[in-house]
Amino acid sequence: MRTVWTACVLAAGLACAALPAGAEEHRQLGAHVHGHGRLNIAMDGKKLLMGLEAPGADIVGFEHEAGTPEQREAIAEAKAKLANALALFQPEAKARCELEQVKVSLEDGHEEGSGHEAKDAAKAAAPAGQAQAAGRHAEFHAEYELICQTPQKLTSMTFEYFNVFAGAQELDVTVVTPKGQSSFEVKREKPSLDLTGIM
Ligand SMILES: [Zn+2]
Repeated sequence: MRTVWTACVLAAGLACAALPAGAEEHRQLGAHVHGHGRLNIAMDGKKLLMGLEAPGADIVGFEHEAGTPEQREAIAEAKAKLANALALFQPEAKARCELEQVKVSLEDGHEEGSGHEAKDAAKAAAPAGQAQAAGRHAEFHAEYELICQTPQKLTSMTFEYFNVFAGAQELDVTVVTPKGQSSFEVKREKPSLDLTGIM
């Protein structure tokens, strides 16, 4: 990490500012487009890791702090749905993938103990109580770890995600395997991913 950072500073100056761990997350919060989420997929042996980042607008239809019991309920329900990975993203059955671990969070900028510099800066720039009006965008994040008994048969994935979450229109999908990295756009109109030859 230190080597990369140093080389980067020498080569490109300011462009390196986004490199340190965590910086990218700060940039992305507030930079998302409603309807558009991201799904990163990495296959390593039998282990299939997936990371979802979705605007609150896509998942529950709002991004402000939950102010009513109904809104809190909506967030709790959404987290439960997001935890059920195989009901959202269905790998080809022949790959025999099972969910091992899951972690779901709401990055809403109002979590206790938040130390995000970007948020602190926004608060400092706006009078008390107006930080939210500065265009903060809450996101749901989910991390999944699956084990696939026959990973070479993972030739497709179906996205039930779009049926579960009415506000979601598109996912930018990146797939990383020992063979390399591929990028896709999976849309509501065609909710499937062809992984032939990639795994
Ligand atoms: Zn937003």
